[in-house]
Amino acid sequence: MFEGKRTYVALDLETTGLDPSDDRITEIGAVRFDEEGRELGVFDQLIDPGRPIPAFTEKLTGITNEDVRGAPAFGDVASDLAAFVGESAVVGQNVRFDLAFLAEAGLEFEGPALDTLRFARILFPEGPGALSDLAAELGVEMPVAHRALADARATASVFLQLRRRAAALAPEERSSLVRVVALDEPALARELGSEELGADDAFEAPALPERWEPPEPLERAETPERVTTEEVREALAGAARVVERFEERPQQEEMAEAVAGAFTDGGHWLVEAGTGVGKSLAYLIPAALYALRNGTRVVVSTNTIALQEQLLGKDVPALREILREAGAIASPDELRVALLKGRANYLCVQRWMGHPASLSDPEVARLAGSLARWLPKTHTGDRSELRLDRGARSAWARFSAADADCLSRQHTFVREGRCFLQRARKTAEGAHLVIVNHALLLADLASGGSAIPAYDHLIVDEAHNLEGQATQQFGLHIGARQVTDALEAIHRPRTSERREGGIVATAGLPEALGAGAAGALKAAVAGAAKGVAGPFEAVGALTEESRDDRVSITPGVRSGTRWG
Ligand code: SF4
Repeated sequence: MFEGKRTYVALDLETTGLDPSDDRITEIGAVRFDEEGRELGVFDQLIDPGRPIPAFTEKLTGITNEDVRGAPAFGDVASDLAAFVGESAVVGQNVRFDLAFLAEAGLEFEGPALDTLRFARILFPEGPGALSDLAAELGVEMPVAHRALADARATASVFLQLRRRAAALAPEERSSLVRVVALDEPALARELGSEELGADDAFEAPALPERWEPPEPLERAETPERVTTEEVREALAGAARVVERFEERPQQEEMAEAVAGAFTDGGHWLVEAGTGVGKSLAYLIPAALYALRNGTRVVVSTNTIALQEQLLGKDVPALREILREAGAIASPDELRVALLKGRANYLCVQRWMGHPASLSDPEVARLAGSLARWLPKTHTGDRSELRLDRGARSAWARFSAADADCLSRQHTFVREGRCFLQRARKTAEGAHLVIVNHALLLADLASGGSAIPAYDHLIVDEAHNLEGQATQQFGLHIGARQVTDALEAIHRPRTSERREGGIVATAGLPEALGAGAAGALKAAVAGAAKGVAGPFEAVGALTEESRDDRVSITPGVRSGTRWG
């Protein structure tokens, strides 16, 4: 009746936990279906795991110890399940998880495995990952979550929707996708249309990002004009009309006026403000007024991604409304704001173009499949737009601009505006406000200003984290082993296991130095070697009182009993 139609089995398991070697199956749900979505059979079976189901899992799945009492053991139904699946392709959400449990229980299938999660990652690299989110995104109903048969049915529908989405892609896009996916997952490539598209042909050049024109540079005023406290007050007074739930707060006004003064008159301000004062707007308003008026750039540095997201998603839109209400800008885009990240966050187009040579690694091949879909859509090349799992995160290093060879900066991608790293930097060059994180701020300092476009004004938010970041960036790591190695490079005395070594023992040197000097040097090295451990043990003792394994040598520490 269904001759000629491909059939699949969508499979889902419920288990006592997440570890296939330690946990056990509690329920099997499977649905046989064809490519037109007709359900051809169902396998629905509770399993006695032979051990108690933890309370948390009972709550999550609704399958209780009571439910599985008297149910068959897995071994009793394994051959029925094997017969039900037969040679069909097994479809599952994160299907390797289910197959690992079955393999541990002694059952392996002959047909290929098709993972809807991987399928979705390839088609929607920026999209959701959980089955329920994926179902919602694709318009698939999910009546009961975390029961095996319901999840298997939802997985089947999600899979068919993904096939439809793949079939709707433009032929050249689908063709290039198929070629990348075929290298790693031929079964998935088949679902994408490898047979009709001929995946064995030579690899075509991967897609390139669109050309891009940089923004107009800022027009810097010859003589900077001040931002008055009245202007700041007026902007804050107007905020209540355009920002929902905005409350006037005297501390916020005081801080905004102080920041405006520092911008105009120079100097540094250290501000400590409690939660709820509205300090982001207190510095953003005067900073934006000053930058707009003088065609200059202000850098705002944060420690966390959460604050960057808050600034870009909430505070900057509010700021634009406030400035428009105050008459400082006519349209929101007049205030240019850029987020600039470290180079490891951006895709290097040069490396991407060379990727066919590196696709022998399955993780790299899989990521390349996702990137092929993402590249025509992204304007930033910023990895935060993608949902990368652990394998993809490590594969990203093969494509990122982190240690790309940018020496020929005038290569075609840069000239045509296709290099994402240069795009981000050019966008920052043309922005009034540039948002960075502390790590990039300090890397810029360490590199003499090569990471962030030149700026005259800097605001450091979450400044209490700056010291820790600076210690990481500028600190020197040294341990007892390194000191011992350095001493042994000068002289290493003979022991029962090792010969004498180091430059003092090198042929010709004792003669050149004279026996007396060489002997004195050996004695000095031996003396120093005895004292190596002491300072490190003393520092180690200081960290015993610290909350982590680091300690800052402050006057308080120096006057403590452990300082000695
Ligand atoms: S300039 Fe550097 S980061 Fe940009 S494409 Fe060229 S090599 Fe890659």
